[in-house]
Amino acid sequence: MSAPGGVASGSPLLGGAPEPTLLELSVPGRRAWQLPDTGVPETPLGTLLPAELLRDAPPALPEVSERDLVAHVTRLAHRQYAVDLGAYPLGSCTMKYNPKAFDALVAWPELNAVHPASPPALAQGWLALLVALEEALCALTGMAAATLQPAAGAAGELTGLLLVRAWHHDRGERRTEVVIPDSAHGTNPASVRLAGYRAVTVPTAPDGGVDLDALRQVVGPQTAAIMLTNPNTLGLFEQRIEQVAAVVHDAGGLLYYDGANLNAIAGVVRPGDMGFDIVHLNLHKTFATPHGGGGPGAGPLAVVADLAPYLPGPRPVRVGEDRYDLQVPERSIGRVHSWHGNALVLARALAYLQVHGADGLRRVAQLAVLNARWLQARLRACFELPYDQPCLHEFVVSAAGLRRRYGVRALDVAKGLLDRGVHAPTVAFPLIVEDALMFEPTETESPQTLWAIAQACAALVEDLERPGGPERLRAAPTRTPVRRVDEARAARQLVPVEGPPLPPEALRDRPAAAGPS
Ligand SMILES: *Cc1c(COP(=O)(O)O)cnc(C)c1O
Repeated sequence: MSAPGGVASGSPLLGGAPEPTLLELSVPGRRAWQLPDTGVPETPLGTLLPAELLRDAPPALPEVSERDLVAHVTRLAHRQYAVDLGAYPLGSCTMKYNPKAFDALVAWPELNAVHPASPPALAQGWLALLVALEEALCALTGMAAATLQPAAGAAGELTGLLLVRAWHHDRGERRTEVVIPDSAHGTNPASVRLAGYRAVTVPTAPDGGVDLDALRQVVGPQTAAIMLTNPNTLGLFEQRIEQVAAVVHDAGGLLYYDGANLNAIAGVVRPGDMGFDIVHLNLHKTFATPHGGGGPGAGPLAVVADLAPYLPGPRPVRVGEDRYDLQVPERSIGRVHSWHGNALVLARALAYLQVHGADGLRRVAQLAVLNARWLQARLRACFELPYDQPCLHEFVVSAAGLRRRYGVRALDVAKGLLDRGVHAPTVAFPLIVEDALMFEPTETESPQTLWAIAQACAALVEDLERPGGPERLRAAPTRTPVRRVDEARAARQLVPVEGPPLPPEALRDRPAAAGPS
């Protein structure tokens, strides 16, 4: 008997077979759903739309049964690494474990079945929740007011810079530059450009903080703001933050706090007390929303009283005892997101804040720091520490020594860790560290897990001493579903596969299934 149309869906039992795409699994007429006949005659599309807008042929969408679809997605999920599978020490990203109770909470229809366009009178509970979150975030950051609209950290950055622009504009000033340290996250200079400013870089001093003399040279009447994260991307607390604030404020500029690293200091010290005027928070990093799959996230922006009139609107506000409404601030820059932002992420964050309370949050920060310091101390034996100080919630080591001795790079170390069951740290960032590996174990990992990460690093370095060790590391990973892809070839000779099923020979030779380079 010959096989029916479509590709046999790659059973895991067959081993090694590349997973077909949905288009390759497609068989005409298959459906993942069925609805009973309504008895209502179908209206031909041609009677609803002008003929020239109609397609000649239906779109070539995959046609698969629910059974095949679920199997396909489940097989893909089993090839993935995820926070729920184990530690994910990806520095800067704060890939902590998020308790399932917060997911259960936002599954309540009382929260998620409220239409976002409901008039305030019918959404008092949601508005109360949003106001409570705004107040909690302001208390945590030392700010006066906030917007919950921005969808992520980068969106908060752009919103904040548009506020900076509006504020200077109202003072009759056209400032053109925003200062950022050379250790900054890539979204900082990108947001600066998007907001129409020029990014001016200030170098990092040998101790890992901002070089104050260099700062004085680049700050002037053209400076709209400085963007800093504290602790910075080296995981080090900016000791001279008060002097930095004075230099920028004296020149008439504002201080923007990139709050992606807040889990290091939450409940311990407030950005407002360091001199910052604007703060974004990454709720999907710090407060109980899983991330990594591209969203949704939330990047609320909190500001000092002077900047509150410029916040996006409409904003939920308390207008009486237990009464809430929506208001547009008088000098608002306008909306930056539909409705109130990614509301279910906001609900998770409020729950997380209320469950922990001030003491609990401080404990979260202390554990994040303790875990990172423990791992930093352990990894000292494996790697170089270019900024050798006790870290806060993350730290950066350099694999440059391994490169000199064995000819392997930070990327090889990252790939080798995958074979040892440990998710790779962030590589090649921050840019100021050669062959950088940036570890952030987060507060949710146990001592046993930290020990396992340290052991994996030690075993990897030890193997480099053995015959063939460097070659083995350069060939890693060998135990993952997909081995090392040729990234240059994937970028230059990308062959996206679309259309009717490919013959099996073509599937076998697909570049995506290529082995290590
Ligand atoms: C993650 C991160 C950002 C960007 O935040 P997104 O929510 O990913 O847009 C900015 N700065 C730092 C330091 C970060 O770690």
